[in-house]
This record gives sequence, C-alpha cells and structure tokens, in this order.
Amino acid sequence: MRIGILGSGQLGRMLALAAHPLGHEVVVLGPGAKDPAMHVTESIVAPFDDPEALDQLAARVDVVTFEFENVPTSAIDRLAERVAVHPPKRALETGADRMAEKTLFRSLGIETAPFAAVDDQAALDHAVREIGIPGIVKTRRLGYDGKGQKRIRSEADVAGAFSALGGVPAIYEGFVRFDREISMIGARDAKGSTVLYGPIENEHDDGILHVSRCPARDVSSVAEATARRAIEAILNRLDYVGVLAVEMFLVGDHVIANEIAPRVHNSGHYSIEGAETSQFENHVRAITGQPLGSTTPIGHAAMINLVGQFPDASAVLAIEGAHLHLYGKTERPGRKIGHVTIRAQNEAEREAKIRAVLALDRWTV
Ligand code: AMP
Repeated sequence: MRIGILGSGQLGRMLALAAHPLGHEVVVLGPGAKDPAMHVTESIVAPFDDPEALDQLAARVDVVTFEFENVPTSAIDRLAERVAVHPPKRALETGADRMAEKTLFRSLGIETAPFAAVDDQAALDHAVREIGIPGIVKTRRLGYDGKGQKRIRSEADVAGAFSALGGVPAIYEGFVRFDREISMIGARDAKGSTVLYGPIENEHDDGILHVSRCPARDVSSVAEATARRAIEAILNRLDYVGVLAVEMFLVGDHVIANEIAPRVHNSGHYSIEGAETSQFENHVRAITGQPLGSTTPIGHAAMINLVGQFPDASAVLAIEGAHLHLYGKTERPGRKIGHVTIRAQNEAEREAKIRAVLALDRWTV
C-alpha cells in the first residue's frame, strides 16, 4: 500500500523505516525539508494546513496516519474526504486536550489525579481550594515534555499562575506522589483485535523522557492488570486503529492515568530491538489491515534518550547488545536527537548496561 504520514519528525522516520520492509511506499508531509523523516522516504514539504499539499498527499496514498497530536483537525477532515485516515480524528482531538483526556478516563472508570478546568485566575483559585496544594496547572493544549505547566507548591505560587501560562484554557491537577511512572502501549486493528506492550517504566529528566525499561520493575500483578484493562478500554472506546500510548503513575497497586498519545510513543522505542514486533511495525500493520504482530519482549530491554549532543558512536556500539538510533537532527540543548536501546539477559545486566550508556554522558545538557 501507499501510506501518507502527517508529520516529519523522528516518529515519522521510524514509521517509514518500519513500513518499507513490508513493501509499502511512504510519503511524509511536514514543514521542514531537513526534518528527520525527510531523509528516509518520499516527502511533501509544506505546512499541515496547506490545502494543495493535503490534496496532493491524498492523491498519492491509500491511507493516511499522523505522528503527532497537534495536527490541525481541519487537515484530517480534508484528507478523510478523499482517503482512509487512521487513527480516528476523535482520538486526535482527545489527545490534544488534557480535559478531554481526563474526562475520557473518568468515564471509563480509570483512576486520575483530581482535576478541574481552569479558564481564568478565579477558577484556578477555586480549583486550588477544592483540590488542594501541591498541584500542577497545565495548559489544556500544546503541552509536551513538561512545557506549558507550572507547579503550585504553596499559596504564593497561585497568584498570577494563570497568566504566567499565557492566559489560555488550562487544567489544575492534584500532585500525585507516585512510586513510578509507567506507560502502556497498545495496537488495535480495524476488527478490534489488540496487542499490548508494557507496563514500561519511564524515568524523566527535566520533563524529558530519559530512560525506559521493559519489562518495568516492581509492578504488582494487580497494577499490571489494571493498566492493561485501562488501555484496552481506551482503545475500544475510541474505536481505535493504530498504536496508542497511555502514560500513568503507579502508587502502590493503584494506576493513575495521566495522558494519552494517539500515536507511536517515545517509551515504545525499545520495541525496535526489545520486542518481537516493534510499535512502528504494529502501527503500520494496523492501519494497512494486516494481522498484528507479537509484542513479546526480547530479554530485558531499555531505551536511553540522547538529548542535546551526539554520543561517541563507537563507544555506544562497543557495549554488547547496544543499538544506536540517530534521527538525522543537529545538536541543540534539550533536543531529542536519538536513542540507544540495550538488551540484556536479566535485570542486573540491564542496569549495568544502562549505567554504561549513561557513563558516556556527553549529551546530557
Ligand atoms: P505531562 O506533560 O502531563 O506528561 O507531565 C510531565 C511530567 O510532569 C510527568 O511525566 C510527571 O513526571 C509530572 N507530572 C505531571 N502531572 C503530574 C501530577 N498530577 N502529579 C505528579 N507529577 C506530575
């Protein structure tokens, strides 16, 4: 088939790299001629709201997907008149709005932090009184990697917090004292079959995903079952086709859903080498109507994000079981420019290999 991808970042690049061996042609549409996905497949360089570019994409492909959640829904509407689009627009809309996400969780009986919509400072004052301190104010839209958020640690942080985030619609959430952050990733096909990855354990550094481990450590069977039920329920409710991720907090046996990503996810990059079928291949399989592949883990895998600076490639590759993925980006502080996957026979060996990669820490800026 011919697949169109809206978005030309590293997720689009890895999707294209997974689609080619299955015999698909891939055309990406994105704004920058040098974006990561542009190096590896056919492309249309244009903004997402360019009607002519969208029509050109629709004419060249059989199915369109997207690799980030802030694609304008008008672009999806225009494409959907001409060609199949997966995942559904509803998932995109839900993933782009923190209130919609939390409301979806609540309607499915999935636990969340206490939350309230905040549309002005008075509403924030009210929400803080109701929910309490500590908490976090987050913009409802366009937040990522910890951007568009402000911690409320004491009364003194409340005044002016709404305008400090730009005076845009926001949400106030109670702070969750979590034991761990985990994610679940699921693929669902058009017939409703699903396969799941995880729980995956995620460690962040300054709001950016730093290390993911799969299998996660210390997740009770009760929590794991809850996490699996939660993502299954979300996939089914959204009548989802493709790969979706759910980020969650773990507190004892409780699983508290934080957000969804209606796309392949950074915490699933380990699956390129650390699972029987990668999240990228399963997304491609789902949207092209092919059977989903096994997500069985291969050993104990971990993914370490490369942020800011390139590592010494030879030093990375000298670590047994390490795989290097660079995204074709230039160095810049705080920018995800690649990742390393390691595979190990057991947990102790995995930790030793993670430490070996982190010791090459030229890139943590
Ligand atoms: P988010 O953009 O919602 O993924 O938030 C970025 C990071 O902030 C999360 O990965 C958590 O480490 C932290 N965080 C977000 N929301 C909460 C919360 N309600 N309680 C505690 N930590 C949070």
